[in-house]
Amino acid sequence: MSRLVLGLDMDGVILDNTVSKIRVARDLGFNISPNEAQSDVIEGVLPKEVIDVLRERIYGDTALNLVSPLVKGAQQGLAKIRSLGLECFLISRRRNPAIARAALIKNRLWPDYFNEANSFFVEHAEDKNIKAKELNIGAYLDDQPSVLEKLNDVPNRFLMDRFDNFGGLTFDHIRVNSWDNFLSHIL
Ligand SMILES: [Mg+2]
Repeated sequence: MSRLVLGLDMDGVILDNTVSKIRVARDLGFNISPNEAQSDVIEGVLPKEVIDVLRERIYGDTALNLVSPLVKGAQQGLAKIRSLGLECFLISRRRNPAIARAALIKNRLWPDYFNEANSFFVEHAEDKNIKAKELNIGAYLDDQPSVLEKLNDVPNRFLMDRFDNFGGLTFDHIRVNSWDNFLSHIL
């Protein structure tokens, strides 16, 4: 039997931008809670033009990226995956891979875990599906239901729902609330 190939999203799965989002939102005049900072939830909380500015700052500012910590358990989870010899790919929709890389370097994940060969930056959710299929990914972990919904060619879709936002979803996926929880499903 071939071994499980894993695919990972970056923001909200590996990098935790929650505090930066709350701070930037406050600078723009809005108070949001950690669960409202989640990428799909925020769409219903802030006006679109505010979200556009917030995203540009969060994902386009190197300094802000360098202060974002890792999601709790991500480092240990990646170490565990590697110790078991499982293949693992990063597929992100970040528009500026250089800034993404800087954050991974700062957190000692690049080039230790991720590098040019196993990291991919694509534009749309549909492109994640195409890339996942090409890489033969058997399980993909993402924090956005709106993205996971598009990954129709991934046999096992995992939703990282750290803030318990998405209890009522109906599409075919497994909801986890932590890295430990995710690992307990796949290992
Ligand atoms: Mg994400």
